Amino acid sequence: MIEVRDLEVRYGTRTVAKVPELDVAAGECVAIVGESGSGKSTTLMSLLGLLENAQVTGQITVCGVDVRNASPRELRAIRGARAALVMQSPQSALSPTTRLGSLMRAALKLHGRAATRAVMAAAVEAVMLDPAILRSYPHEVSGGQAQRFAIALAVALGAEVILADEPTSALDVTVQAEVVALLRRLRAERGLGLLLVSHDLALVSTIADRVLVMKEGDVVESGPAARVLSAPGHAYTRELLEATP
Ligand code: ADP
Repeated sequence: MIEVRDLEVRYGTRTVAKVPELDVAAGECVAIVGESGSGKSTTLMSLLGLLENAQVTGQITVCGVDVRNASPRELRAIRGARAALVMQSPQSALSPTTRLGSLMRAALKLHGRAATRAVMAAAVEAVMLDPAILRSYPHEVSGGQAQRFAIALAVALGAEVILADEPTSALDVTVQAEVVALLRRLRAERGLGLLLVSHDLALVSTIADRVLVMKEGDVVESGPAARVLSAPGHAYTRELLEATP
């Protein structure tokens, strides 16, 4: 569902991300790890054509759409629906005066989906939330609930792949584990693909099948998560692992 070849993102003359190869299949979780500023988010955002003022080259295919050459209409059809973006703090992206249920209804309608109570209740129940939450305003829910809701929205819209940028970094540890367990379950039950950006190797080790390690815009190592995280081939990966509690 995601196929990337020879991706390069430049701002002016500066290359901030260079990814020769990145694939995510159905039911698979690929994690991009690396320290802050290594180009992880830039890579993720480029896959949905969301970077402004950047020069992006290479081949990017998401859910069968050639992202770099797609029309605005084709891009709208994948963004938010077939390929859902989950951010670090969804609450800040939600309108404070709109109840979660209204927000979900608007998103479903925007993508031409039925927005019945039953559809919405099923989506929130799929992420272990009480449907009563649909009557809440964003400030009335916790960070973990907001993140679950963002994932419920992806489920309701029929997402095939979730692109998640540090989805648990703003949450405390027990809630982090719950959100990761949820993503793992959706992957197993629905064959959801997952591209995860994280600086947290401990978390990555609990969910990722494959890992790409980025440093200063380059992929320094990639491979099966079990191998990369237990027997890293690159000194930088070893440094990251040593810095992990
Ligand atoms: P990470 O997600 O690994 O923390 P980012 O992808 O956010 O890293 O950033 C990679 C590099 O790209 C950083 O050096 C950052 O300063 C630079 N960068 C990000 N956005 C822009 C932009 N709009 N203009 C210029 N440089 C940018």
